[in-house]
Amino acid sequence: MKYSLKKDKFRENRGNYSRLLQIYCRKCEKPLFLYQKDGPGNLRRLYLDRIINKEKMKNLKMLKCENCKEILGTKYIYKKENRNAFRLYQDTIIKKIRKLKYVQENN
Ligand SMILES: [Zn+2]
Repeated sequence: MKYSLKKDKFRENRGNYSRLLQIYCRKCEKPLFLYQKDGPGNLRRLYLDRIINKEKMKNLKMLKCENCKEILGTKYIYKKENRNAFRLYQDTIIKKIRKLKYVQENN
């Protein structure tokens, strides 16, 4: 299965490159979702528009592991860009980079 990366002003503002990350719960190690990380730096917040298959998470106020019920972050609006995001609590997730063969660049 191939995943398409979004190319927009948010990505451009972060150096115009992205990686696809698999996000896991740190406590129980269950895979949670795939995430498009734009640009360099640590993962301190997750933008809702970068969560792949985000449909079921749209209305959540908290980011929670469905398996072990650990709370991973809280929803807020990142004001600088007016984007819905989850602010991650410290050390609640594990991330692994997905190989590029799964990624398809959109033009
Ligand atoms: Zn968990």
